[in-house]
Amino acid sequence: MKITFILPAIGKKPGEKYIGTWKMEPLTIAVLKSLTPPDIETEFYDDRIECINYDTKTNLVVITVETYTAQRSYRIADQFRQRGIPVIMGGYHVTLLPEEARQYADSIITGNAEAVWKTMLQDFQNQKLKKVYHGTVEYSDVPPDKSIFAGKKYLPISLVETGRGCCHSCEFCAISTYYHCKYYRREHQNIIRDIQNSTHNFYFLVDDNLIADLNNAKTLLQKIEPLKIKWAGQGTLAMAKDKELLKLMKKSGCELILIGFESLEEESLKQMNKSFNAALGERDELVQRIHDAGIGIYATFVFGYDGDTYQTFADTLDFAKKHNFYTAAFNHLLPHPGTRLYQRLKEEKRLIYDQWWLDEHYIYGDIAFQPKNMSAAELSQLCRQARKEFANFSTVVKRGLYSIKRSSPLMWLLFWSMNLRLGKEVDEKMKIPLGRNLDELPK
Ligand code: SF4
Repeated sequence: MKITFILPAIGKKPGEKYIGTWKMEPLTIAVLKSLTPPDIETEFYDDRIECINYDTKTNLVVITVETYTAQRSYRIADQFRQRGIPVIMGGYHVTLLPEEARQYADSIITGNAEAVWKTMLQDFQNQKLKKVYHGTVEYSDVPPDKSIFAGKKYLPISLVETGRGCCHSCEFCAISTYYHCKYYRREHQNIIRDIQNSTHNFYFLVDDNLIADLNNAKTLLQKIEPLKIKWAGQGTLAMAKDKELLKLMKKSGCELILIGFESLEEESLKQMNKSFNAALGERDELVQRIHDAGIGIYATFVFGYDGDTYQTFADTLDFAKKHNFYTAAFNHLLPHPGTRLYQRLKEEKRLIYDQWWLDEHYIYGDIAFQPKNMSAAELSQLCRQARKEFANFSTVVKRGLYSIKRSSPLMWLLFWSMNLRLGKEVDEKMKIPLGRNLDELPK
């Protein structure tokens, strides 16, 4: 028996390569490979970096679906099913919208696949495949088998999972919907094992909120310290309120931390249920503490909440430039299905595309709802301008000079490669057609 795993791409413009910074190794596929008994043959097509062979000799196709890749996933599934190959789908999007996914698959897995994977395979081999398998949200720990990535060129960063979910409930966040506002920590010994088994020297600790369980985070960091690694991760600004935590982070090798500031507008923070982000004066001090600890910040902002005006963009840019963030993302709000944000905008009749992820008129970078204080087109353009301005050469040089005082040589090199690449990608990312015309295009 043979299984073909597929990770679909978001989309690709004619004649252009896939966005470089979107090419991280897909951990989920390595976990599924690890769960698969060795007597079952496996192959993997990463649609982001290679063409799919629809005529491959296989018994079963497994597709991991995210909201952005849903349209592409369904098209790929159609191709295989037309050839008589059954398709199973899983992933966040399938869990949030199972009824939609069921229309395009022979079977779906909701929740985390680990708990039901082996049962599903046995059912398939016994020709008793069920229509739906319900995985759990809890952790069942599996060492990823990255041998399935052999020959594929990903960013040279080792991904190691440290936890899933988050204790908060931001209105726009699909993670909080999926995990019901709970955090699931991973066994430390398994994290250490995965770090030791990884190939690249720089690590991204995959966690929706690394500091969701503060005591757990501190214990883990103490265990990571002797491994002498360099790592980046993701957390909230609240980390800076705990000086001991910051010290442990740095000592364990933390070089860069992604923080969702989201907005500087109190009204918008309140509306998104993220008021736990600090008030303005305190925010400046907390940022400084992280920088003083020798950790760079990847700041992310989101625009389009009802408290946002034209001035919000200027103020946010000033804030980001003032603090010389290592890098930053200026995103527009996107109503993901299954979130409270989506429900609210639908009830307020403000959705421009009811199912933007399937709408053939929707393209990457478009706004899917009607903002309160500007037009949808203005919101999209203002986000683009903010990205451009933050990535312009003089701003990058100024941030680079600030960063050199705090960074290791590795992070200094990464600074340039990351920021120059992200600057170049601002326009490359705009107007990517969701899920269309990929196979015929040059890589
Ligand atoms: S803090 Fe981050 S991960 Fe947690 S619910 Fe809010 S946006 Fe989602």
